[in-house]
Amino acid sequence: MREFELIDSLRRRLAATRADTRLGIGDDAAILAPPPGHEVVITTDTLIAGRHFPDDTPPEDIGFKSIAVNLSDLAAMGADPAWLTIALAAPALSAGWCDRFIDGILEALSDTGVDVVGGDTTKSDTLTISVTALGLVPAGAALRRDGARVGDLVAVTGSLGDAAAGLTCWPHRDGASADERALISRLTRPTARHGRRLRGRVHAAIDVSDGLLADVGHMLSLSGVGATIDADALPASPALARYAASVDERRRLQATGGDDYELCVTLPEDALDSARAALDCPFTVIGRIESQPGLRLTDAHGDTLDPQWLARAGWDHFDGH
Ligand SMILES: [Mg+2]
Repeated sequence: MREFELIDSLRRRLAATRADTRLGIGDDAAILAPPPGHEVVITTDTLIAGRHFPDDTPPEDIGFKSIAVNLSDLAAMGADPAWLTIALAAPALSAGWCDRFIDGILEALSDTGVDVVGGDTTKSDTLTISVTALGLVPAGAALRRDGARVGDLVAVTGSLGDAAAGLTCWPHRDGASADERALISRLTRPTARHGRRLRGRVHAAIDVSDGLLADVGHMLSLSGVGATIDADALPASPALARYAASVDERRRLQATGGDDYELCVTLPEDALDSARAALDCPFTVIGRIESQPGLRLTDAHGDTLDPQWLARAGWDHFDGH
């Protein structure tokens, strides 16, 4: 792969379509014209082979995921995705690998209205993909982590724990069952949710990338509040419900597994129906925001849970302060 080949190939296969892209790929830099009254939301996420995805991940899946995780960060801010740039550092790559990598990028971008407006390729021993994504929100309307209020419900989109379970299936993926393949596809093909539809409906939002409890903990500390989460309310896909060896194992995967890229939000009770109707995926209440700092985990009966994996998940970092 020559240095500019990937970007050139992207330009050929992905025509810029946005009127507010004044100048896309091809010059020293792109020129973008955000509409009046809007703010630009910008995020960067880097994926490294062997750390963020298994070394033997197919190039389509690497391309897809590198885009999806960035779209998910924009979704968590309530932004409309608009532009992105892609930096690829890699050992010598074949044209075939690049074509398949771009296939995955195009698939992740289909129907998003996003223009790829730049990029860079560099030689490196470790395959590393760094994507910068830019989105737009009406001024002041972005969703943030610091807006949770006492009395809010805590709710999540979709289901939790699939990606972490999928990672445990990865080594034997060639002989995987239908359930295991479904879990693996949630690891390799995460779906960014329509966070923009939650603008004006929720008080705080974050996407679940580190694991639910860790990510809720980020919202709580920035908002200066606490929460009780009902472990039995955490939504499970049918595949995970069948795959998990025990209730405790299912709870552990759902509460601490990363990479699901669902949205976790806090919202007033009277906004629940409208938020649910605005989304095209399940939306499940899992807890409530409280004035007492820290994060408490209960079962469906309201009894406090303290399983061994909580301490390993870094529980003490956000409990009680
Ligand atoms: Mg995030």
